[in-house]
Amino acid sequence: MEKDLLKTPIEFLKGVGPAKADLLKTEMRIFTFGDLLTLYPFRYIDRSKFYTVKEIQSASTEVQVRGKITSIEEVGQPRKKRLVAHFEDSTGRVELVWFKGAQWIKKSLQIGTEYVLFGKPNYFKGKYSFPHPELEKVEDFKKSPIQGLQPVYPSTEKLTNKGLNARGIGKLTKVLLPQLKGVIRENLPARILEHYKWPSKEQSLMAVHFPKDLESLESARKRLKFEEFYFIQISMLLQKQRTTVLTKGQVFDKVGDAFNGFYSNHLPFELTGAQKRVLKEIRKDTKSGHHMNRLVQGDVGSGKTVVALLSMLIAADNGFQSCLMAPTEILAQQHYNGLSEMLEGTEVRIALLTGSTKTARRKEIHADLLNGQLDILVGTHALIEPTVQFRNLGLAVIDEQHRFGVAQRAKLWKKNSIPPHILIMTATPIPRTLAMSLYGDLDSSVIDELPPGRKPIKTVHRYDSNRLQVFGFMKEQIAKGRQCYVVYPLIEESAKMDFKDLEDGYNSICREFPTPDYHVSIVHGRMKAEDKDYEMQRFAKGETQIMVATTVIEVGVNVPNASVMVIESTERFGLSQLHQLRGRVGRGAEQSFCILMSGQKLSNEARTRIETMVRTNDGFEIADVDLQLRGPGDMMGTRQSGMLDLKIADITKDNQLLHLARKEAEGLLAEDPKLTKPEHAATRQFYIEQAKGKVQWSRIS
Ligand code: ADP
Ligand code: MG
Repeated sequence: MEKDLLKTPIEFLKGVGPAKADLLKTEMRIFTFGDLLTLYPFRYIDRSKFYTVKEIQSASTEVQVRGKITSIEEVGQPRKKRLVAHFEDSTGRVELVWFKGAQWIKKSLQIGTEYVLFGKPNYFKGKYSFPHPELEKVEDFKKSPIQGLQPVYPSTEKLTNKGLNARGIGKLTKVLLPQLKGVIRENLPARILEHYKWPSKEQSLMAVHFPKDLESLESARKRLKFEEFYFIQISMLLQKQRTTVLTKGQVFDKVGDAFNGFYSNHLPFELTGAQKRVLKEIRKDTKSGHHMNRLVQGDVGSGKTVVALLSMLIAADNGFQSCLMAPTEILAQQHYNGLSEMLEGTEVRIALLTGSTKTARRKEIHADLLNGQLDILVGTHALIEPTVQFRNLGLAVIDEQHRFGVAQRAKLWKKNSIPPHILIMTATPIPRTLAMSLYGDLDSSVIDELPPGRKPIKTVHRYDSNRLQVFGFMKEQIAKGRQCYVVYPLIEESAKMDFKDLEDGYNSICREFPTPDYHVSIVHGRMKAEDKDYEMQRFAKGETQIMVATTVIEVGVNVPNASVMVIESTERFGLSQLHQLRGRVGRGAEQSFCILMSGQKLSNEARTRIETMVRTNDGFEIADVDLQLRGPGDMMGTRQSGMLDLKIADITKDNQLLHLARKEAEGLLAEDPKLTKPEHAATRQFYIEQAKGKVQWSRIS
């Protein structure tokens, strides 16, 4: 019954004709009664308070006044007429103004009748006026339910033009809800409702659409937010069961010569405690017989690469191949160089495959992969092409994963009959709340310790007008044998402006740092891969002292002798990008510096970003600020996932409820993994209904 009613197409609701129905669908994605039911008010106006005209003090907030209309007139040019009504109470007068629909409104207004006026006033030449206010006769107002808290619904301009403004949508809800009484089923286990003293589903829906008082509204909202998180978490945890516990995995039960030989003879340093712990977690997963799906988060420079390498060596000891995917050509190349160097003198065979690998070499690699001559393949997206086939791929490491789309990752699964273990490494710390919602189906490890002896990077903010001092500082550092990066905002193929900025910057640096005393490199997205590589190598070898670059160097590039990072037009970079860029320095033993350049004029948000960078080096703290500033939608490509299309809950504000939902969902599935107990039947039923409409986007991540 409930099902049928909630699935009723929206055009069958009284007051919604075909035209309005079309708009509701295209503008708000409201197709059914059920969709309208979960279109929640985004705020409430307190209509219990009345103001007098004299008390109106600001033009920014809505006020409610009781009074009478004393006269009505039409003013202005014939084609631009507006209707003006004079409204007064015992303390003063205001004007009510309509620019549209004057004829109709004029007829409906009654002079001398007591009205309740509601709206947002404008202030002009010493007078307040209310454009298109809400008016209701006092006698009607007394009967209407809006006397207390009035819900405000989202709407759009097109809907408003068709009479469905925030209030119009509220009226539809008013028609709908009484019809649904007695058919809205509970979907949370009874013990949760009892324990938290939350209202039933039906009570909650009634309360958010027709709030009686703040208290019951609050607990209804809490319950609905919890519910929203709860079902996401159940879905995540079930997904996790499927991709780990219920999916067979390759068994890496041996630790042999590849690992041990490297560990005792080639590893140039002692692992940090955090690296050892994460390696143990990976060991445990990969020998369990279940499929591993693990996210390793570690700030820039925390030493994720060597953890990946050691894991790949364990795979090799068990007769399996591994691959390591990087998001850019430069990074793949650098991983390859670094790993080859570390593996020198061992038996482990490694190759590099990217978009620019020559055909002959590519063919060789393809053959070697198939006949097992290769242990480790490093590369870019090129290595997930269907033509690349492995003899027995056992482990896939994905570096800086958020740049890989879900679909691309899914291709990896298919490279073997038993899917390879997946290790995802990211240097962009993800706030815990976001991680729980987005990657709640992954196991997660954190490398929360930097290798010993690192000095925290000193970060300062300088205005463009101080550029000469900054150049002076760079010269001092270069005189001490250090190297500097100067980074400009991303060059888009189309953005000529960016390119000009970069060229101008490069030219002025070449003037300021002339040969033969100085040598300057430049790397940007428009260069050919081999030219980029050549310049990178010159800088890495110390042949050039300054690297002028765009964000192509953002990820992973490792030149320990570089100790100064100058970022130009800092205000144009996002926080996580800034943090990534800063991570390019501070990799050696010397004190490193990050100089954030900007113009004088900064938006509040840009200022907050800069202040945050100056205040802290902690990637998790930075990620939290980023989440607060941008909201979850823009981060980590979450938009595509659709997973964060939350109707009432808000990840940045409701994180306590999110943690609670996670805990309760874990408890639920621990007690009843398949939700077969009778007391969970309703929860199960709701979960199934909801899951039907959703794509399994997180099949792999
Ligand atoms: P990221 O986590 O940013 O990928 P890398 O793996 O590139 O960091 O490591 C950064 C640098 O730290 C590299 O030069 C690496 O050799 C070095 N490193 C990694 N682990 C340790 C350690 N335990 N002790 C000392 N140096 C280390
Ligand atoms: Mg790295």
